[in-house]
Amino acid sequence: MGKEIKAYSYEGIGELMKQWGQPRFRAKQVVQWLYQKGVSSYDEMSNLPASLRERLQNEAPLLPAEVIDRRVSKDGTRKYVVRFHDGCATEMVAIPSRDRLTVCFSTQVGCAMGCVFCATGKEGFTRNLLPGEMVEQVLIAQEDMGARVTNLVGMGQGEPFLNYDNTMAALRLFNAADGMNIGARKITVSTCGVLPGIKKFASEPEQFTLAVSLHSAIQFSRDVLMPTVANQRLTDLKKALQAYQGESGRRITFEYIMIDGVNDDEEHLHALMSFCRGLSCHVNLIPINAVDGSLFQPSADATVAMFLEGLERRGIEATLRASRGSDIAGACGQLKNLGR
Ligand code: SAH
Ligand code: SF4
Repeated sequence: MGKEIKAYSYEGIGELMKQWGQPRFRAKQVVQWLYQKGVSSYDEMSNLPASLRERLQNEAPLLPAEVIDRRVSKDGTRKYVVRFHDGCATEMVAIPSRDRLTVCFSTQVGCAMGCVFCATGKEGFTRNLLPGEMVEQVLIAQEDMGARVTNLVGMGQGEPFLNYDNTMAALRLFNAADGMNIGARKITVSTCGVLPGIKKFASEPEQFTLAVSLHSAIQFSRDVLMPTVANQRLTDLKKALQAYQGESGRRITFEYIMIDGVNDDEEHLHALMSFCRGLSCHVNLIPINAVDGSLFQPSADATVAMFLEGLERRGIEATLRASRGSDIAGACGQLKNLGR
């Protein structure tokens, strides 16, 4: 038995078909069945010869995931627990709004970064997700919501840049006309600041959006909040982002969770403003969501307003991100690694 089909990128499926002496259009057909129609078995791929379906089944098996829990928030957000064939489970969220359907997908089962405010980080790392497992999450949400997904954010469980190649392969399947056909600008991936990943991402040709979890522009407090990222210095992060912007010309989104008494005083605001200087960016302020067993509390409304005003006065675009799905533990940072 070879690798399962979900381990392949679009290009990889093309190479496999070529190796097997298949005509060029086969890769396109396989990708359409898998990632446009979302079939769960090779039997359904009616325009492929039976011999090819059998060979695929034997040498690149298609192993579908199942939804083992689904919760609906009073605000319409839905959270799914998806279990893969090896028993590993991850969570993802669908967030409808008037003219959009955003899906927040996971890139790993769990996360190794151990950020102290994050439920995923607390539970540790189990494994990387395959490109097809990332797309499958989105297809599951699309079918259940009965509407086309318009926006994607790689902000579920895991650190995408520690699973770089699989994440890029997934982004390309989301973007491909034969895949989910979602515009690159509508696809965002969020990193806690893995520098080699930011460097590579700068040279990718597509207009995917980069979000960076900053949470503090003061080295000492960032190190406490994000202990594993502590070896990637803020000065180096800024240099990497300037280089990214120079190369790609793309705007960066910063995520800044606001924690009462931890990263929300004037000193932190000034550090944030000076970090943004020289970058074309958008700051998303997110009052921290409650996580079991954590003493962190969200900043007061007046403090959030002070940040918003301060940033705007400096010409830095900033918005307050309303948290959706917190009643079903589906909001940012509340996704747990259920392991296996
Ligand atoms: N690992 C990547 C992407 C997944 S985390 C990253 O860290 O960027 C997605 C977002 O949720 C990040 O910005 C993260 O910092 C934020 N988050 C984590 N815990 C949170 C919490 N308790 N409340 C609000 N946001 C949180
Ligand atoms: Fe991992 Fe992101 Fe959570 Fe940090 S915030 S532990 S990097 S998922």
